[in-house]
Amino acid sequence: MTTTAERTAAHGGTTDLPVVPHWIAGATTGGAGRRTGDVYDPATGEVTKRVAFAEPSDVDAAVAAAKAAAPGWRDTSLARRTQILFAFRELLNASRDELAAIITAEHGKVLSDAAGEIARGQEVVEFACGIPHLLKGGFSENASTKIDVYSIRQPLGVVGIISPFNFPAMVPMWFFPIAIATGNTVVLKPSEKDPSAANFIAGLWKRAGLPDGVFNVVHGDKVAVDGLLDHPDVKSISFVGSTPIARYVYERGTAAGKRVQALGGAKNHMLVLPDADLDLAADAAVNAGFGSAGERCMAISALVAVEPVADELIAKIKERVATLRTGDGRRGCDMGPLVTGQHRDKVRSYVDAGEEAGAELVIDGRGVQPDVQDGVEAADGFWLGPTLFDKVSTDMSIYTDEIFGPVLSVVRVASYEEGLHLINSNAYGNGTAIFTNDGGAARRFQNEVEVGMIGINVPVPVPVAYYSFGGWKNSLFGDSHAHGTEGVHFFTRGKVVTGRWLDPSHGGLNLGFPQNA
Ligand code: NAD
Repeated sequence: MTTTAERTAAHGGTTDLPVVPHWIAGATTGGAGRRTGDVYDPATGEVTKRVAFAEPSDVDAAVAAAKAAAPGWRDTSLARRTQILFAFRELLNASRDELAAIITAEHGKVLSDAAGEIARGQEVVEFACGIPHLLKGGFSENASTKIDVYSIRQPLGVVGIISPFNFPAMVPMWFFPIAIATGNTVVLKPSEKDPSAANFIAGLWKRAGLPDGVFNVVHGDKVAVDGLLDHPDVKSISFVGSTPIARYVYERGTAAGKRVQALGGAKNHMLVLPDADLDLAADAAVNAGFGSAGERCMAISALVAVEPVADELIAKIKERVATLRTGDGRRGCDMGPLVTGQHRDKVRSYVDAGEEAGAELVIDGRGVQPDVQDGVEAADGFWLGPTLFDKVSTDMSIYTDEIFGPVLSVVRVASYEEGLHLINSNAYGNGTAIFTNDGGAARRFQNEVEVGMIGINVPVPVPVAYYSFGGWKNSLFGDSHAHGTEGVHFFTRGKVVTGRWLDPSHGGLNLGFPQNA
């Protein structure tokens, strides 16, 4: 067995580690900044590379490149833009395994899950391939006598995208395919925890024929984010991350006069009615609670069991969790590690707090024995196994807070109404699911629940690309959800043209307000 320190030394010491560079104007650059961040392999605990942290001058350089590319890209025909999008789609599809391996090496999620996020991101690329149809405006012939009225939509210019660690490929792809297809140029600031996917994607765009400067990547922390938020040449911000930062980004970005969509955190409830298929519900709870180690904004973290189902449901969940294999995402396991040691410790502290608060700890993931590569010490990875609490009350921190880890809490309620009240009282409103065989109850739930995305016997109801993704309440700041027609509207501005081709009989002075005739 080697320790992390020994393996790091075998790499020649951490100072020799490769640095993930920025991508500006079609080429990599180390930038002006000297600051860097550590990038881990979460399954080994090893620092495998560093990532460059942008200084304001690096943000300026990326925005300048995007601004310089904007006029040419805006005037590129829809036919040509579409050809490039199709080429990008082909390259992305062909590189899925390679990109998934990059994601797993830095995020930790299992390879099949990484491939899944790429597939869902690719859906948005495919949606954006239909941009000529999506950008068609309206036309009203003879709105007034011999006057035609029509609408057109135009790009904003340079747009900023700031993304979280948990979907390093999919979340940026909720935005940039549509932003680019509609004629904007992009500066992406990915999460500093898993930065390499963004650079890989930038390389695919170049190979697809996208002109240099249309897609840029700056890495870093708050300095890079603030640089984008304050920059006068950045016209919009699409942010995804935790609620406090989403609120901050929304307030600072809108104060700077930008259009902002800021998607925040979540606490997603799954309501199980007594008539539900409990095997289906147990499968769903395990998949949605522990998939990607619970590091999904659409993960289920609160299981609301309408009595008398709780005992039977918990027994079924226990059976299923006993078959799960937690370990290195490259080894065919079901669940990988958490993203960093710091995050794992925070999630663990919630498990400690839940126990202290008196919740019943049914499955304790703290002692998990992970499946790791030969020669790697299990203790060095950022492990926490699936954890299940029963008899959780709404004042406990495991219920009130977004934990963002493999911790599922069962809250027992007496009725549908009590469960609905619980969900609607929550500060978040990202996703929710109901499990029932009663169509009337499901219809009532979809009508009454105050949440943006709803699953009916579907635990992770992430909308397909041609619908829009977004929550309510503290899960989204701003008016626009991601992708679908809302995405097309977010990345374009409308114009309405009222035109008359000269007809002398309609000339003459008239200082009154124009009226239709
Ligand atoms: P995070 O808020 O820590 O980071 C998100 C981005 O903001 C990163 O690029 C980060 O560098 C930047 N950032 C962090 N702190 C900042 C600060 N003080 N000032 C300016 N910028 C800052 O989120 P995370 O931990 O990377 O991701 C997990 C969170 O994202 C969870 O809360 C999850 O629910 C949420 N999320 C939401 C959705 C959604 O669709 N609503 C989707 C995915 C993830």
